Amino acid sequence: MTPDIFPEHKPLLSPPDANAKLRHSGTESHAAWSLSLSPTRPDTCPHSTAGCRAACVGSGGLAHAFPSIGDSRKLKTEFFTRQPDRFLSRLENEIRAVVSKNRDTGLTPLFRLNAFSDVVWELVAPQLFCIPGLKVYDYTKNPHRAPLPNYSLTFSRAEGNEAHALQWLERGDNVSVVFHELGNYSNHGAYAQRLPKKWRGFHVIDGDRSDFRCLDPVSKPGEPGYVIGLRLKGGIREREKAIETGFSVPSADWL
Ligand code: SF4
Repeated sequence: MTPDIFPEHKPLLSPPDANAKLRHSGTESHAAWSLSLSPTRPDTCPHSTAGCRAACVGSGGLAHAFPSIGDSRKLKTEFFTRQPDRFLSRLENEIRAVVSKNRDTGLTPLFRLNAFSDVVWELVAPQLFCIPGLKVYDYTKNPHRAPLPNYSLTFSRAEGNEAHALQWLERGDNVSVVFHELGNYSNHGAYAQRLPKKWRGFHVIDGDRSDFRCLDPVSKPGEPGYVIGLRLKGGIREREKAIETGFSVPSADWL
């Protein structure tokens, strides 16, 4: 039998402490395991835009600083595309093991399967969503997706998809919007950027307090969704590109 492309002794899921954002979001009651595929493949991020690719932490950030991290994500992505049955079987076993290990511990495991991708998991692997106790959350730029009871999806506004973002908000689903203020806000200074209270008439919630989007407020039936405000981060060049393309929205226009 052909061996798996991705080493069998390595897990596909990253534990909660492997991702700074997920680690900081963790609480005594919730922690998130994530799947990091490579966003550079057209089949993993088919709705990406020039602006989001420029600001993407999946290809910049740690993957840029430590090439071995980017290489591992690429190999995992090769495994997914070339040996999908083996990939999905391993992924399901890992998820079941995490859920089972944390049953009755008081900790609810969350899963982010598109840490740096936009795979339609509900169609690619519907069997995953039958796992009892499963809670998955992701951002998506695919306007045709819709949240499931155990799969929270936040539409991610970018340049060129604002009409879809407004449709999601109007039908009651949440949408993330990246905002910026001009100035030198690299590293932790990024958090000094102000978020507006409203964007296009919809209430803005501070999405940087936690990454756990599945715990965000959900609107009542018939009411519009919430805007999940995120501050533009990254290096100077990434910020410039995100602003220039319109991927990031100036807070000043809405304050
Ligand atoms: S869609 Fe998301 S993961 Fe893909 S390139 Fe854009 S920001 Fe990165």
